[in-house]
Amino acid sequence: MITDRVQDAAPRLGEVPAYLYDLPALDEHAASVRRALGGIELYYAVKANPDAELLRVLAGHVDGFEASSAGEHAHVTTLFPGKPVALGGPGKTDAELRLPHHRIHVESPNELRRLLATGLEADVLLRLNPDLPVEGAALTMSGPFGMDEQGVAECLPLFTERVRLRGLHTHLASGLDAPQLLTLARALLDHEHEEVNLGGGMAVSYAEPESRFDWAAYGAGLAAVRGGKRLRIEPGRALTAYCGYYVTRVVDVKRVRGEAYAILLGGTHHLRTPATKGHDQPFTILPTGKGPGLADEPITFVGQLCTPKDVFSRKIVTSARVGDTVVFEMAGAYAWNISHHDFLMHPKPAFHHLRA
Ligand SMILES: *Cc1c(COP(=O)(O)O)cnc(C)c1O
Repeated sequence: MITDRVQDAAPRLGEVPAYLYDLPALDEHAASVRRALGGIELYYAVKANPDAELLRVLAGHVDGFEASSAGEHAHVTTLFPGKPVALGGPGKTDAELRLPHHRIHVESPNELRRLLATGLEADVLLRLNPDLPVEGAALTMSGPFGMDEQGVAECLPLFTERVRLRGLHTHLASGLDAPQLLTLARALLDHEHEEVNLGGGMAVSYAEPESRFDWAAYGAGLAAVRGGKRLRIEPGRALTAYCGYYVTRVVDVKRVRGEAYAILLGGTHHLRTPATKGHDQPFTILPTGKGPGLADEPITFVGQLCTPKDVFSRKIVTSARVGDTVVFEMAGAYAWNISHHDFLMHPKPAFHHLRA
């Protein structure tokens, strides 16, 4: 399912592959998320997609940005001076620990000691890695992220007047639905802390693009368990995934040992998401082609890379002709910016931003 704006624009882009961002759709989506959250603070996790035009739209709806590196920090503070920044990330350098912030998410007792050694003021959330099962999550953030309860306890006596403990931060997993995230919230709100950042990880279904995270239920659920505490969340994927499209064209079709393939310009070096997550990237075909075709059969859509991993979608029953425009959906998060752009030295995609 693509918006009318994208359907109109995609065949007229000229050079493809190209990324197409539907800014009015992002604006509408972010506004509805904001409304659903009431008094819960909303930060955007910049690593999902740091595109400046997207950030400009989001800035009108979010309370701040979560930056996980000096690079992201420089990017958002240059674009939006004065907008609050939460600084996170494992393995912060001493230079990163010196960056100005609204909150800094401390990942270990040693990191806290290094923060104290800077002599600068800081407002800290301790990142807790809670011992909670997360069934069905796409990616669990166990392992090295944050601290267990013992690590948190080790930090508590270290705080000073200048380096203040504000509360807890957590980011449990990627791909959680509202009831799962509410269970997590209840467990964290049992702690004494006045302020809790519940992280991101709101589920985005690439298999069922129409099934969206239930922001209304999450917002209402958080309001019910919040007490007097200051609550914040920092989603990435669920804010920007839907507004982005990767537009390309069929350059060849063929059958090899009975399997039908459509070869597309570009590849997973531009849109790595299906390769990393192992899913079929949803798409719409616009019939702009006049060349040879495949009709009503399972077709595997691949790119131009010389590797069998360069697959967008497998055995999707559809039709495709050489010259058809293929619009991959849900390419607004963890897409271009996580891709290995220089592999094979094909041209880079163009970037287009649709406005109202
Ligand atoms: C990646 C990340 C996020 C955003 O996660 P999404 O799954 O994109 O919502 C939020 N907080 C932290 C600490 C992260 O590492």
